[in-house]
Amino acid sequence: MNIDFRKLNGLVPVITQEYGTNEILMLGFMNQEALDLTVETNIVHYFSRSKNRIWKKGESSGHIQKLIDLKVDCDNDTMLAVVEQVGNSACHTGEKSCFFKSYIKSDKLKLITSKVANLPTKYGDFDVKAYKDASGKEHLAIMSKDFKNKKTPYVRVHSECLTGDSVGSLKCDCNKQLVLSLETIAKEGGLVIYHRQEGRNIGLVNKINAYHLQDQGYNTVEANVKLGFKADEREYSAVKYILNDLNIKEINLITNNPRKIKFVESCGIKIAQRTPAITKRNPHNENYLNVKKEQLGHIL
Ligand SMILES: [Zn+2]
Repeated sequence: MNIDFRKLNGLVPVITQEYGTNEILMLGFMNQEALDLTVETNIVHYFSRSKNRIWKKGESSGHIQKLIDLKVDCDNDTMLAVVEQVGNSACHTGEKSCFFKSYIKSDKLKLITSKVANLPTKYGDFDVKAYKDASGKEHLAIMSKDFKNKKTPYVRVHSECLTGDSVGSLKCDCNKQLVLSLETIAKEGGLVIYHRQEGRNIGLVNKINAYHLQDQGYNTVEANVKLGFKADEREYSAVKYILNDLNIKEINLITNNPRKIKFVESCGIKIAQRTPAITKRNPHNENYLNVKKEQLGHIL
């Protein structure tokens, strides 16, 4: 086996696949120690982030499966572990769970880019450029026509929300924030990066499972944690690449999220001004917004 596991966080994503089927059931995480044990013993050892430990053979946790096949994709730094039987308890979902995420080395990060094309919209005429990252996720940079001439363009990093952006869900404020941002850049000049990390990067299936838990009374953070995820799983390496690619130095950042402020600053980009993305509340998103403010520190 020839793979470089020097990751940002030292963890290797592992997709488990039920033997004899093509169904991907869940993603666990391995670090080097877990990988060595897996190769040595033919038993899949998961690294549990939430508990910061490795599940080893003999622990009656249901996390251990007999390894049938191990495929390594060096290009994408991913491993596919085919196991005899899959329990879902490692992800604490109680349900089948699909989750794909690829960790790639930041110094080697290179996204596939499209040409720039004109996109007329109901908000105004934009230029668009698409980017594809190593995990296969495709992101979109939406630029006002005068974007290149702006010294301090308005910039919004918008996280994908299919239910909000496309279906008009009232459970969150994503759709309204997107519209506000597109209207702002159409008028003032700027950029919206549509970042494809659905459900704070847990994917649509897990997000809908989280909604199912919310139907039973859990809040947005509790539901994610119950499914075995952190409150916020987003990471911004693709956005950093796009900001660099578009030669962004100084911006007016449209956000309520302190993590996005920190992220932009960590890219060496000056935030000349922050513009809040405050939208009208409704009875369905009231609680969601309160949790965002109280537990995720959003400036609301
Ligand atoms: Zn949303």
